[in-house]
Amino acid sequence: MNIDTTAVHGGYHPGNGEPRQVPIYQSTTWRYESSEEMAKLFDLAAAGYFYTRLANPTNDTVAAKIAEMEGGSAAMLTSSGQAANFFAIFNLASAGDHVVAASTIYGGTYNLFAVTMKRMGIEFTFVEPDCSDEELEAAFRPNTKCVFGETVANPALVVLDIERFANAAHAHGVPLIMDNTFPTPVNCRPIEFGCDIVTHSTTKYMDGHGVSVGGAIVDSGNFDWMAHAEKFPGLTEPDDSYHGVTYAKDFGQGAAYITKATAQLMRDFGSIQSPQNAFYVSLGLESLHLRMARHVENATALAKYLEGHEKVAWVRYPGLESDPYYELAQKYMPNGTCGVISFGVVGGRAKTEEFMGHLKLAQIATHVADARTCCLHPASTTHRQMTDDELAAAGISPDLVRLSCGIESAEDIIADVEQALAAI
Ligand SMILES: *Cc1c(COP(=O)(O)O)cnc(C)c1O
Repeated sequence: MNIDTTAVHGGYHPGNGEPRQVPIYQSTTWRYESSEEMAKLFDLAAAGYFYTRLANPTNDTVAAKIAEMEGGSAAMLTSSGQAANFFAIFNLASAGDHVVAASTIYGGTYNLFAVTMKRMGIEFTFVEPDCSDEELEAAFRPNTKCVFGETVANPALVVLDIERFANAAHAHGVPLIMDNTFPTPVNCRPIEFGCDIVTHSTTKYMDGHGVSVGGAIVDSGNFDWMAHAEKFPGLTEPDDSYHGVTYAKDFGQGAAYITKATAQLMRDFGSIQSPQNAFYVSLGLESLHLRMARHVENATALAKYLEGHEKVAWVRYPGLESDPYYELAQKYMPNGTCGVISFGVVGGRAKTEEFMGHLKLAQIATHVADARTCCLHPASTTHRQMTDDELAAAGISPDLVRLSCGIESAEDIIADVEQALAAI
């Protein structure tokens, strides 16, 4: 099936007389006839639900849809994108291990890795996405457990060369994990280019209406854990907390990783998405293919308009031929990237703030990637504690405006930006 059809029908196939729409299982617990039957679930000897802290059928239905859309073998939902990226790595790496990550990743993920996971004893080496092969090679250590990057970085809009990073990871016997939040599987399917595990903040385009915070992890099922058994003992050696289950042997290559993340990490951390929120994500996914096309159309139109405007200092959007990531975007996402663009207003910080004050349709919000056009001036909000020098080191100029094009009419979005530029 084409992804448009999977977006509508994937994951849920009701039987005779069953609800047409995904039911919300608003229940913490499940009832069993006997303790013996329930015991099988606690030993992972039988599949089933017993407590929503670990798993819930609504979530699993929505995760199955996302797995189909990404071309993966198994998936799970998490309470947020942060939880998804934490689980994706912590499922493979523990204290004393090491991870190679792209330096341009989302600020929240950078903090999670460089501060919080570092405190847990996991070391990260950050590499520039455009580093030389030698620099990339030099980042690996004997205890490296995975490589992490974003398909289109938020907010840097850097497109990662997925095949190059996948090849480097595989040469070292470890998987590549990609956060595919911005393009979504509608525009980019990283597994087709060698990525092993895909993560999402479903909070963004997948939900698409700004109603629910959530995350997802998809396993391709392509990484051979047993072939690198000594690197991944958590998957290839018995788990004492489940009477000696060995995930890679007992559940197979396609299900081992997600089963372990559910059975251990969800059990212990409980960062599950509420079934109600999973339902909202499900509704969002049904129109994702229509919305992504419009987000791209609107962002492309606005980026082209801004590129020719005398009061605009610079524009960055991977859909523009002048963009440094145009070629990579064409290769990995020929139908477009996302609706987010960044640009600078001539006159620097003061003029930028003045410009934003005149916007009417594009409202100021920290959020990105939903139906409503919104914008943010990082230098005076999310990054306001930084000096201009610190901002420059983070790749954020004082005049940078991050504008997330919604699904309104491009004409109206451009007219709004036009009147705000005219007013300064
Ligand atoms: C927003 C975002 C996250 C974090 O997701 P939350 O749902 O806010 O926890 C992670 N990665 C990317 C690329 C994001 O845009």
